[in-house]
Amino acid sequence: MYSGYIGKLIEELEKLPGIGNKSAERLAFHIIGMPKDRADKLSKAITEAKEHICYCSQCCTLTDREICSVCADEYRDHSTIMVVENSRDQAAYEKTGKYKGVYHVLHGAISPMLGIGPADIRLKELIVRLEGDVKEVIIATNPSLEGEATAMYISKLIKPTGIKVTRIASGVPVGGDLEYIDEVTLLRALDGRVEL
Ligand code: ZN
Repeated sequence: MYSGYIGKLIEELEKLPGIGNKSAERLAFHIIGMPKDRADKLSKAITEAKEHICYCSQCCTLTDREICSVCADEYRDHSTIMVVENSRDQAAYEKTGKYKGVYHVLHGAISPMLGIGPADIRLKELIVRLEGDVKEVIIATNPSLEGEATAMYISKLIKPTGIKVTRIASGVPVGGDLEYIDEVTLLRALDGRVEL
């Protein structure tokens, strides 16, 4: 329907999450209509992010350093680890400015339906961290089916070590994504956490 180059651009944009064919078309034409320097900036930002972003060697969050700024901060409480599904959920808690512990980012949740098992998320890395001086693991996975299954799995895994395992309170609507929930609700969920 379109020239090869436009078709290719639409095809690539359509592969992005939440972008259907109509949105992909609209974005493609928007990009083509951009001044060249803006389009260059966009493609450079994508390439540079892919080149420089890596996983923090401690908490697995996305960072441009070997150790992220939270893990490198000596004033944070390194004996309290909050487990989240992704870097966006971590950012949501960071924005509250009230949580002083560190994080562990799983990059997903266990989902038997989607064929995502414990080995497909960053769980091994969490277990390794527990060999250090850890007093509490706060499980802050989403209150979805997958998030709850992941919380159960992690709690069973950690319990035998004697480390305290807590789950954030379910003040958040079921199926709601943590990143869309306001700060007050997030903090209430954190304060109201219960021991598993
Ligand atoms: Zn880190």
